[in-house]
Amino acid sequence: MKNKLISFCVVVFIIFFVISLPSGKDSDNNMEEYEDLTVTESPSVANNEQTKKGFGIGQIVALSVSGVILVTFCIIVIINYKKCKLVLKNSERIKKLLELNQTINFRRIQSRYNNQQECNSKRQLDHLSLDDYLIGLIASNESFYRNIVEAISYNRNTYYDYIRQAESIKTTATEEFCKELGFSLKRFLKYENRIFKWKKLRKPQFNVTVHCKVTYTSPQGRNHYWKEESYNFDELKRLYDHTVELKIQRQTRQYQIKIERAKMTDSLRYDILKRDGFRCQICGSCASDGVKLHVDHIIPVAKGGQTVASNLRTLCDRCNMGKSDKM
Ligand SMILES: [Zn+2]
Repeated sequence: MKNKLISFCVVVFIIFFVISLPSGKDSDNNMEEYEDLTVTESPSVANNEQTKKGFGIGQIVALSVSGVILVTFCIIVIINYKKCKLVLKNSERIKKLLELNQTINFRRIQSRYNNQQECNSKRQLDHLSLDDYLIGLIASNESFYRNIVEAISYNRNTYYDYIRQAESIKTTATEEFCKELGFSLKRFLKYENRIFKWKKLRKPQFNVTVHCKVTYTSPQGRNHYWKEESYNFDELKRLYDHTVELKIQRQTRQYQIKIERAKMTDSLRYDILKRDGFRCQICGSCASDGVKLHVDHIIPVAKGGQTVASNLRTLCDRCNMGKSDKM
């Protein structure tokens, strides 16, 4: 509606401008000519005067037509405005939509984030993957990226949900109800639909750009190399989910290691020592040789080894240390 009004005014203005501008110029020229001619007293004075008068009438006509069009349009706009106000005040459908709008609160975040890092060598830059660079950024600042992903996801879900709810609001207007307001049902619905469209919330922020750039400048500053990429929301979310999954996997692994270590009880330790005859299974020394005996995992727990008799053996502290050096 506003756009129509503006474009209409612009068109009227252009018509007026186009008609009035050249005639004004001409009349100025004519004036000069006219003055010159009066001095020389040429017979064409009368003709020029006529032309000048003709342009004057043209201007008046253009002005009047533009004025009439403008006034008519203003009247139409005012009538329309009053009718819209009346429908807005009385429509249950619009009232419900406005109530729904009050419950919606989209989240606003920056639309672009820039990350830049300098590499120490050209080789490092060549081997660097920007996906890995962004994964590193996400891992080191998880809450920041979680906030971005959550805000956009929230906006998307909330907006789709909002549209669904808004579309389900149907009109309650009846023929009699519209008659009381001085409308036909068809006319009332036309206004109601139009206002409903205006009052519907606009699409919120649906996307974000995370720009990553890694650069390397040669020591003398002669050569400058870089890699860069822009990630949109979907790509960012994929990398964010991947990073979170990696973190969970790592935590699960650490938890499993802790559980496996806890299975080594004093009783199990004694059983293994006894089974191995209280002797180191590598060098054969025993406590009387001045060594300290340990129960050792053959495949270490960190590498998936279990705390079961088949994976356990007795080692002296010297052999155990030698083993850990080799691991
Ligand atoms: Zn030993």
